[in-house]
Formats: sequence, structure tokens, C-alpha cells
Amino acid sequence: MKDILAQETPVWRHLEATARRILESYGYDEIRLPLLEATSLFERSIGDVTDIVEKEMYSFIDRNGDSLTLRPEGTAGCVRAGLEHGLLHNQVQRWWYAGAMFRHEKPQQGRYRQFHQIGAEAFGLAGPDIDAEMILLTARLWRELGIDAVRLELNSLGTPASRAAYRERLHAYFSAHRAALDADCQRRLERNPLRILDSKNPALAELIAAAPTMESTLDTDSRAHFQALQAMLAAAGVEFVLNPRLVRGLDYYTRTVFEWTTTALGAQGTVCAGGRYDGLVAQFGGRPTPAVGFAMGIERLISLLGQVGPGQGCDVYLIAVGDPAVLAALALAERLRTALPDLRLTTHCGGGGIKAQFKRADRSGAAIALVLGDDELGAGTVTAKFLRREAAQETLAQQHLEVQLPSLLARARG
Ligand code: ATP
Ligand code: MG
Repeated sequence: MKDILAQETPVWRHLEATARRILESYGYDEIRLPLLEATSLFERSIGDVTDIVEKEMYSFIDRNGDSLTLRPEGTAGCVRAGLEHGLLHNQVQRWWYAGAMFRHEKPQQGRYRQFHQIGAEAFGLAGPDIDAEMILLTARLWRELGIDAVRLELNSLGTPASRAAYRERLHAYFSAHRAALDADCQRRLERNPLRILDSKNPALAELIAAAPTMESTLDTDSRAHFQALQAMLAAAGVEFVLNPRLVRGLDYYTRTVFEWTTTALGAQGTVCAGGRYDGLVAQFGGRPTPAVGFAMGIERLISLLGQVGPGQGCDVYLIAVGDPAVLAALALAERLRTALPDLRLTTHCGGGGIKAQFKRADRSGAAIALVLGDDELGAGTVTAKFLRREAAQETLAQQHLEVQLPSLLARARG
């Protein structure tokens, strides 16, 4: 689990603010859900024979003897909440969320045990137009963030019925190569052969590449849906590649699945992934409700942005020498914060002489140091000194400081 320190948060905030603005411009509303859910919610939705449920969940028994799990993803919770509050039946919902997810994975670049996602879910829309909307929305986000090293991969997993037929074909194919499979995949062979396609074992890459694809067993309606989606993306100028082996690591997907991937991050190349899950709401006891969603991995996107700079620091550093000046400085700082809400003003804390205080002012990143000593206190003034460029120091009346400070700051920054 990674600490996000002050020099990183400006990039995080930039990404989060951009995503929020775009999601809301498409009419998506934010929801905030608990980090803990009943373990069975994830077991039943994500699927027993998946990496997440088999080995990655943080589950524990609470004081009532209930098994709870720190959420490994956001979709199951959205479905649970939508049903619980009666928000899914005969309604269209467009939601987005942001927050921490937890998976007990082997920590490495781009793979953490607490990581963060921003995701969106739409309920009640069955057609390919909403699939296209979500993809356009994410494409816009990459454009606005200046990320161009990503490409879109698309596949269709069909309906549960066409998928069952595919499953048989896969089972036959991998059974013929049983000895070549690793222990994980041998287990998956009987319970969920689709999962073998999702294996990250490089020794199996060739075998997987030669496996039969979903294409041949895809039902007519799913095929039409998929073709319509492709036509919409083409019309909107979004490039994509078809990847018939894209199955995603969760069992609830039907029809459209997509991933935005990059080669710039090594093995952890998927920055955003999603798809349709038309069966999930009914599976949890709701009326059949079509749904589609995606989630993006914030840490991986941040690595792509890659511009970790110094912390923002402050604009003005207020130095006070002597006890009476410290008291006056406190009051002056409060007055300035009220008058100039956007000003980043740091008051020196911890006492010390003027030289030591100037040193701190310098390290704070401030453009201006304001000094209050006995002389200034007596005269009702402050002394202003530019910290980032040569200029004579200036004496300003305390009384009008909030009026003069903005232009002073502009000059101090050149
Ligand atoms: P992967 O194939 O990389 O394991 P996944 O299929 O398990 O990904 P999803 O469950 O679809 O991933 O999650 C969506 C996105 O969240 C991923 O594309 C990735 O960007 C991010 N993500 C998933 N797991 C992690 C993790 N452990 N650490 C950081 N980001 C992650
Ligand atoms: Mg994974």
C-alpha cells in the first residue's frame, strides 16, 4: 500500500478534477459507497474461479461473525446499492465513483494492494450507443490529459448462452493440451476455461494465442450489437483494434468488453477497462436490467502523466520577530485569509531569529516574505521582500495590505 506524498498530490488532483468535470459534462452523477461489503457480494458477482476471488480479497470475520471484504472493485457495490434503494427498476442511471480498492496482489510497478479507481456505471440502457458513449468519454479524458500512448481493444463475449457454447469449444481445445497447462489453468479448465485466456503466464502465451475465438459462437444479436458499436466508434473517429482473446478478469461481463492499454508501463499496461454486464442485476434479485461500466486505474494513469513536481508550497511566508509581533502576525494572517481566500499564506511557527525564519521562507516556495518586527509593529507596517527575484524591499501599511498584496505577488513572480 502506497503513501501519496505532497509532491504527488497536485498530479492526482489534476487528474481527479479533469475526470470529474468530464463525467459530469456527460450527465453522470457521483455516488459514494462503503469500502466494506459482504464477502458473498463479490464471490457471487466477480465469480469463484477468478484471480480476485481465489486469491486477492481482503476478507475477515467481524465481531458479529459476518464475513466482510474490502472492496476489490466498484461495480458489485453499485449494483447492491442500486437495488437496495430501488434505483434500477425502469430507470436510467448514470453514475460515477472514485476511491480506493483493495487486492492482495504481488506488489510491483503498477500493481498495489490499495489502489484507486475512477469508474462509471450506466443502468437501464441496452443498446450500443451507451457503450460508445463510455468509450468516447474516456477517449476525451485521455485527450484532455494529454495522454496519447493508449490504444483501445474491443471484444464481445456474447450472451450467457453463446458463451456456454464457446466454453465447450475452449474446454475441448485446452483438454487436448492439458499437460502443457500450469496448475492454476488445469484447475480453471474444469470450472471456467475462459479464465485460461486471462492467464498472465508467459509460457502459455502461444497456446492461448492459438485457442479458438468467441467469434465463431457469437449469437446474432450480440454480433449486431458489436457491429453497431464499431460503426459508432468509427463515425466518431475513435480508433480501436479487435482482440478476440480479451475476456477480462471478472465473470459478470456479457457482450461488449474493452480495455485501454499502453506499452509505456511494462507488463501492467491496462489503464482502463470495462464492459457490459446485462445479467448482474437480475442475478442479485432485481428485474433484468442492462448495464455497462468501466474503471480506470489512477496509479497507472499517473505514471503515464509522469510529471511529479515539487509540492505547490505557498505564495506568502509571514515572518514575525518578538512576542508582540507574533501576536500581531497571527491576527494579520487571519485577516488576510478572510480577505483573500485563494491566497496561500504560511505563518512562521516555532520562533527563532530572523535569519532562521528567512531560511524557512525560502524553502517554503513562497514568492514573498512579509516581515513583522518591533519597528514594523510600532509603525503599523510590514516589510515585503521578494524571494525569487532581485528587488529592493518595500514597506507597506498593514491597513491596506489585502488590497496591495495581489499586485505585489504578481510582481514578485515576474
Ligand atoms: P490486470 O489485468 O492488470 O490485473 P484487472 O483486469 O484485474 O487488471 P480491473 O479489475 O478491470 O483490472 O480494474 C480496472 C483497472 O484498475 C485496471 O485496468 C488497472 O488500471 C487498475 N488496477 C487493477 N488492479 C490494480 C492494482 N492491483 N494496482 C493498481 N491498479 C490496478
Ligand atoms: Mg488483476
